[in-house]
Amino acid sequence: MQLKFYGGAQEVGRSAILMKDDRSLLFDFGVKLDHRMEFPVGSPKADALIVSHAHLDHSGFSPGLYNENLIPSFGTQPTLRLSNLLLDDSLGIAKKEHAKPQFSKRQLKEFINRYISMDYHHVTHFGNFDIEFFDAGHICGSSITLVERTQAKDYRRIAYTGDFKLSPQLLHKGAEIVKSDVLIIESTYATREHQDRKKVVKDFIDGVKRVVDNGGTALVPAFAVGRSQELLALLYQHDLAQYTFFDGMAKDATQIVLNSPSYVANYDLLAKAARNVNWITERDERKEALNGPSVILTTGGMLHGGPVLDYITKLGPNSEIFLTGYQQEGTNGKTLMEDGTIMIQGAKHRIPQPVSFNDFSAHAGMSDLFEYVKKSDPKAVVCVHGDEENTISLAKALKEEGFAAYAPKIGDAIRFD
Ligand SMILES: [Zn+2]
Ligand SMILES: [Zn+2]
Repeated sequence: MQLKFYGGAQEVGRSAILMKDDRSLLFDFGVKLDHRMEFPVGSPKADALIVSHAHLDHSGFSPGLYNENLIPSFGTQPTLRLSNLLLDDSLGIAKKEHAKPQFSKRQLKEFINRYISMDYHHVTHFGNFDIEFFDAGHICGSSITLVERTQAKDYRRIAYTGDFKLSPQLLHKGAEIVKSDVLIIESTYATREHQDRKKVVKDFIDGVKRVVDNGGTALVPAFAVGRSQELLALLYQHDLAQYTFFDGMAKDATQIVLNSPSYVANYDLLAKAARNVNWITERDERKEALNGPSVILTTGGMLHGGPVLDYITKLGPNSEIFLTGYQQEGTNGKTLMEDGTIMIQGAKHRIPQPVSFNDFSAHAGMSDLFEYVKKSDPKAVVCVHGDEENTISLAKALKEEGFAAYAPKIGDAIRFD
């Protein structure tokens, strides 16, 4: 058996790992969204695709595989629906920016048509593989994949974590532990611990309440899939629903999540939250939302587009901005944090309102990664989905603990015999 890395190796983005055995399985086929869109390097020959979850760094180039080879892809039902939403939206953005679309509508349709939905804990046979998904606790439908090589004597169980979170979130239980012989693990935060979640929640809610009490607008930019639903439930839980306006693609994502009750912990909380906040359906209603006291929860999370850009230049007195997720280099979110400016359609805007960063990460922190490896108890660990520093340092620390550990680069292959 061999693992070959086409992307997501010593970097975050464009995850693409091929497992070659009697048949070849591709774990994810994503894009990297830096200053421009980047794709996996090379063309893996896969017999099937596994989609770990809907985020575009994992699903974003899946339709690009659908040329002559119409292979099946496996994932959960919410992953299919949420991927479809995000992929369709990314085609729309390309069109708006007059950029060449990264795949055609036909390819997207072929991908969707050949997608086989599998629930957690349901085993599917594919050649000599038994494939099973487990809850990754990252976003709705996210999975940890276990592939059992039924004919193999050694290295029988290959587990791929995708993105995961070990501790529970409001709408998701913590990731399930999967025993493995080879563990391919994400390393996003391999050198950092997250802030205590209770403190993050308290600081965020205290801040939002302060703004509301002063009659201002709390502008909360959030990623459409995952973070928006989590924050929606959180705002409702803290009696802020009546002040909250909900806008952008996050609304469509929330509808999909609401249609996937078995993939949501605390489903009732989300359902009640969705019923009690104010959904923005017309552009005109945005004016009302800007009349404080109010909370505006909207996309995009890194201020690269979406209604948030419409709101941010029109905020009234006593308003504040609450960033709620990772801000990539080169995005408006990052420049806003650094020097209080953003770019909208080529024009620089200075944003005078106070900005805070709230670490609502849906990834495992440093000690969680070690805990997961120890409990999964593999012979070999492959560290991916982290920058050079994080993947190399995780592999090094695991070697010191007696595991065979690797931090491959793009183009590398590792054999397990
Ligand atoms: Zn993700
Ligand atoms: Zn990811």
